[in-house]
Amino acid sequence: MSLLFEYDIYNDQSVVVFHNYKQYKNINKLNSIENKYYDYKSFIEQSKFNSHKYFSKSKSPLYSDLVRLAKYEKTSAKEIISYLQNLQKEEDIVKDIKNSVIVADDKSVDYYEVYNLGNAMGLYTELAKVEPFNIKSIINFSKTFGLPTGNISFPNTFDKTLVNNSICIPSCNFVELNLQLMEYKVIFEVFESIMMNNTEKIKEREIQYIESTTNDSNNKHINIALRKSKLDYFKTIDDETLLKYETEYLSDLINNSIFSKLFNWSLVSTKKGHKLKSHYNNLFQFAYNQIIHAMLKKPNFKKCEYCEHLFEAPNDKMKFCPTLPFRARSSCEMASRNKRKKKRN
Ligand SMILES: [Zn+2]
Repeated sequence: MSLLFEYDIYNDQSVVVFHNYKQYKNINKLNSIENKYYDYKSFIEQSKFNSHKYFSKSKSPLYSDLVRLAKYEKTSAKEIISYLQNLQKEEDIVKDIKNSVIVADDKSVDYYEVYNLGNAMGLYTELAKVEPFNIKSIINFSKTFGLPTGNISFPNTFDKTLVNNSICIPSCNFVELNLQLMEYKVIFEVFESIMMNNTEKIKEREIQYIESTTNDSNNKHINIALRKSKLDYFKTIDDETLLKYETEYLSDLINNSIFSKLFNWSLVSTKKGHKLKSHYNNLFQFAYNQIIHAMLKKPNFKKCEYCEHLFEAPNDKMKFCPTLPFRARSSCEMASRNKRKKKRN
């Protein structure tokens, strides 16, 4: 294979992070918010649930996340599974999902900070830590990086350069955001186990998946003999073949479900000539790009000594998750230091 073209793709986008975010379980409450920066009423229409866009291609969400979704909808995981299966077939079935919304807190909407995407190298590993349907976890992430997805809208007070060149997401549908988080976590988990050569984990997940199809009424055509031979295959497979299998699966996930979401690009002219620039509409697009970049470039990964999550470690001395935007030091490093201090006292 030859490298046909060689050019760099630039990005100079910034991300607007509001001081705080708030969940409204009843979307109509936005009607009563008066604010000079945003018309909160307009968020009502923008944030209505539009789920058929999601969950189309990934094999299945993590079961623990399905249980969270079921709990939120006050139903069973089984009901949710059949609901999601129907969503893939009929686009107009969406009716019962709660229209809860997360918006930039109206009391702090005029307080915002801006960071550059170039300083968000830890975004994709931080996004993987967010627990779906855990509002505290979602808001914590959003207060650092901004809402990962939702409706792009700029306050009338913003300057033009920021409007043209940033990601500013003041509102999103709560369930839609969580469905995207669930999809992201599935892909990230596969990615992580490949990067860490964790064949035990891959085997466990594949066996679990085959066993779970036993109770799946949609998969009756998978007969018992076939299932048994698949199980035997994964129980005896050697590590190298297993990793190859899983890498192909990850490529499938990316080609089928996220490739269309990566980014837009445009050719811009500067004083020094032309440049190719990428443009991201939301943070999932950026995070998926980071995953693909990591697959191609194979950077060094480590597990954080404090939170035990995966992070990219360009410097081999790094022991903790990277420093977040607006911070001077790694939060995990600080937390670990405080913990040691407490132990000594
Ligand atoms: Zn950490």
